[in-house]
Amino acid sequence: MAVGPDTPITQLAGVGEARAKKLTKLGLAQAADLLTYYPRDYEDRRKIYTLREAPVGQRVCVAAMAAEHPRKARIRQGLELVQLKVVDHTGALHLTFFNQGYVEKALRAGEEYIFFGTVEEQGRRRAMVNPIFERADSQSFTGRIMPIYRLTAGISNHLMASLIRQVLPCADSLADTLPQRIRQEQGLASTQFAVQNIHFPADEEALELARKRLTFEELFYFSVGLSFLKGRREGECSGCSILPRPLEEFRALLPFELTQAQRRVMEEMAADMAAGRPMNRLVQGDVGSGKTVVAAYAAWLTVKNGHQAALMAPTEVLAEQHARSLSSLLSPAGVQVALLTGSMGAAEKKRVRTALASGDIDFVVGTHALISDGVEFRDLALMVADEQHRFGVAQRAALAAKGDRPPHVLVMSATPIPRTLALIVYGDLDISVIDQLPPGRTPVETFVVREDKRQRMYGFVRKQVQEGRQVYIICPAVEERSEEELALAAREGASPPMDLKAVKTYAVQLQEQVFPNLKVDFLHGRMKSREKEAVMAAFHRGDTQVLVSTTVVEVGVDVPNASLIIVENADRFGLSQLHQLRGRVGRGRHQSYCVLITATRNPESMARLRTLASTTDGFKIAEEDLKARGPGDFFGNRQHGLPQMKIADLAGDMRLLNLAQEAAKQLLEEDPELSAPEDRPVLERVRQLFAATPDIFN
Ligand code: ADP
Ligand code: MG
Repeated sequence: MAVGPDTPITQLAGVGEARAKKLTKLGLAQAADLLTYYPRDYEDRRKIYTLREAPVGQRVCVAAMAAEHPRKARIRQGLELVQLKVVDHTGALHLTFFNQGYVEKALRAGEEYIFFGTVEEQGRRRAMVNPIFERADSQSFTGRIMPIYRLTAGISNHLMASLIRQVLPCADSLADTLPQRIRQEQGLASTQFAVQNIHFPADEEALELARKRLTFEELFYFSVGLSFLKGRREGECSGCSILPRPLEEFRALLPFELTQAQRRVMEEMAADMAAGRPMNRLVQGDVGSGKTVVAAYAAWLTVKNGHQAALMAPTEVLAEQHARSLSSLLSPAGVQVALLTGSMGAAEKKRVRTALASGDIDFVVGTHALISDGVEFRDLALMVADEQHRFGVAQRAALAAKGDRPPHVLVMSATPIPRTLALIVYGDLDISVIDQLPPGRTPVETFVVREDKRQRMYGFVRKQVQEGRQVYIICPAVEERSEEELALAAREGASPPMDLKAVKTYAVQLQEQVFPNLKVDFLHGRMKSREKEAVMAAFHRGDTQVLVSTTVVEVGVDVPNASLIIVENADRFGLSQLHQLRGRVGRGRHQSYCVLITATRNPESMARLRTLASTTDGFKIAEEDLKARGPGDFFGNRQHGLPQMKIADLAGDMRLLNLAQEAAKQLLEEDPELSAPEDRPVLERVRQLFAATPDIFN
């Protein structure tokens, strides 16, 4: 059968209905999907050893002859063995196959095979369990560099490799979408060569060439897409022009002096907004650097110019806090601030929506509900997104499509992201950095402690409260784990999360048994918006002294009187997340503390926690995190809204990224619309790549 790019996988040998289902889960529906299902790693199976020379304890290939007919034995219900001895001129090897009855017929006495597996020493004899084997005269998965794929239960690497081998011939019919001149300039291999060799490389050099071509290609299409985005905005002169006003007028509303860094960023923003084209600016500043007031300034300017502003926060808790504090800051200046979140009552939501449409509300603060359908503004001119890593290009694009003209966009983030990632994810934004903390802050003292210090730690809580301070206790969010996740954890043999501190139970226990004289309360993501708001308000007022919470307080929550944060099961959190949590304290005048309590026996986890204790530098911490967890984790569930990279390693391909961006820029200068016949395939590819990202091309 001839396989073409759109041949369904069900037509491939070895794929029945059950396997087809599993493959679909991996995003593999037709031959072309398999072609771009790149290996995650490789195994060098080129060297073929004699039985004597084969090193023990490593996966290797050996060439040997079956010395006898395989013996099949049923040990008990569900356990079947096939055994045989193989030999070469240097020695013998004993093979055992578990539950692979077909082997009895597949191996024939007197024939030569290549076996791939781990050589073990069993007393004086050498053995191999469940090797992969092929006849010596028809090798396809031994004696070569073998691809290793990402798999799912029921799909073995062997099967995946054999499927890809089946579809590989149709790589010949793939058109090369990279313009010839770019391929020549960059010294890139052809599509056919790259696809063949990324899966089944002829040698290291071929693999390197294949990888270079495909990585370049991916980054190139990506850069072209981002340039389109950016170019479209720059072409737009239709942004709303916001006239500047003296900073002093705004300063008079504040109880503190602005830092130099805050002033600088405010001026940059004001210049953007006055310029007539839509602002697209990212403000980066470590936790506690004072980003909120910068956003408040932009909103104030906007409203004073007679337009509306909106601020979007990643959680309801944070939205409520921002609404409260921005309202008290800006209402003396005559700015009407309102809250809009998904879990507000229908009637109340409707009231806010109507007021937004009529223009009675100047500045709305909310969650994602803000960009959901049905919210209309009379005249939205500014959108602020707090904690940008949860607010990607897709959302920004959806937003730009909202009004008659695209609003100014300001995104604020405390997460310092490494440079490659920043270029890619925020490649279409201008960046300002608040590189200075407000004066009088003393760094938070961080301690890593074990269970034996628990009572002392509770004593420390009492002492802080006696001095008038407040305390957070953070637990992993067990209550927010879905049934599915729990089931999965159970299947993988993880112990049930019994030892984890579940928020509510723990709070009750603390109140009754540990702090009978203090007021303890709790907060978690499953509570109703009203309840959450009430709990946070009580903590703000100082009515509650100890707040037991999940990570819903992770980003942005600001209660300057809180001076101690305790994180239970600290080893379960990522470093950047712990850094964010720690940023909840040390926001006022008081010396503040962060206690990370853990029962882990894992030396690496301990080392990670100690890193956090030894530095407060957010960039250093983010880098450690990236090393430990990889870029995929950085944004959670692909929340950046950009196409997923199949091959480019975002943390490492800086040089190729620069080349790709350069080439993209040059191409668009020569042919801005990509209308030349040779460039049209590029446009097609970019369209496909950004298919999930709305509004790039209209
Ligand atoms: P983040 O950058 O983490 O969002 P916030 O905007 O929440 O930080 O500010 C942290 C705290 O610092 C708040 O209580 C805020 O009122 C205060 N703050 C902000 N700027 C200044 C300043 N220039 N001087 C003193 N306090 C400030
Ligand atoms: Mg903040």
